[in-house]
Amino acid sequence: MMQIFMPLNFLGFVYREIKGSMANIESMFGLLNQTPKIVDKQGADTLNATGGEIQFDVVDFSYHKERPILSAVSFAVPAKQKVAIVGSSGAGKSTLLKLLFRFYDVTGGRVLIDGQDIRDVSQDSLRAIIGVVPQDTVLFNTTIFDNVRYGRIESSDEDVWQAIKLAHLDEFIQQLPEKENTLVGERGLKLSGGEKQRVAIARAILKRPKIMVFDEATSSLDSQSEQMILEAMREVSREQTCVVVAHRLSTIVDADLIVVLEKGRVVEQGAHTALLASGGRYAQLWEMQQKEEGSSVN
Ligand code: ATP
Repeated sequence: MMQIFMPLNFLGFVYREIKGSMANIESMFGLLNQTPKIVDKQGADTLNATGGEIQFDVVDFSYHKERPILSAVSFAVPAKQKVAIVGSSGAGKSTLLKLLFRFYDVTGGRVLIDGQDIRDVSQDSLRAIIGVVPQDTVLFNTTIFDNVRYGRIESSDEDVWQAIKLAHLDEFIQQLPEKENTLVGERGLKLSGGEKQRVAIARAILKRPKIMVFDEATSSLDSQSEQMILEAMREVSREQTCVVVAHRLSTIVDADLIVVLEKGRVVEQGAHTALLASGGRYAQLWEMQQKEEGSSVN
């Protein structure tokens, strides 16, 4: 019986998948009310993603001509490495992600993935290789298990369980009244920010995109949730190129590259230890956060 009902059950899922395949990405940027302005080039190629290497090459961008938002931004992330973008509010971190998804075209320079200018490839093929763990994950009114399966709907139960374990969700699921069959979402159990983010990570593990984007939640999670999210992220980042927009610097000390943005310019880039040693803007931000964390503990 289940074999008959499962596909039917999943029709709704498939429908949402097609209709809302960009839902996470769009909601992440609050773009639902914006009409896409970018059109594919005629005869656009399919992105041939080999490893997921990212390059921002002297990128300029402005939403409105008179106000530059990003100026000459350059950095390169080799395949399977982790880059963290940090900087004050309004520095241009989310804008940089929007350019990676090609929600807008750069006004100068180029964004390359595995050596291909993303303006030359179809948007579908570009977005198919990028997974997102947004700050606030959309949960559908179905079981927690199917919410994870949404990452790749054709996954076997075994694969879904594996993703659940890697995302450190299994212990949580075992405590739920109906375990993996517990309904979540608006009409079901409400999950905390940290739990929702782990659902998003489990989905991402199932999807296994070449490039993974984490938009770190601004609201602070308790340290146990944060630790679990960090471990799950590490699991994902082993095989994928990761781009993390980080608010808490303590979460990205292990990044291969940290790009410090200020007023749309890269003021520093490097690894944590080197940046601290150079005593610049990153070291300043680090010190400020250490003091804040210290005072919130006391
Ligand atoms: P935060 O840490 O607060 O999220 P951020 O570093 O991600 O900030 P962005 O959201 O990239 O910063 O914004 C950079 C600048 O671009 C800001 O001055 C912002 O007001 C402006 N901006 C962002 N989105 C738009 C838009 N759609 N139209 C016009 N200006 C925008």
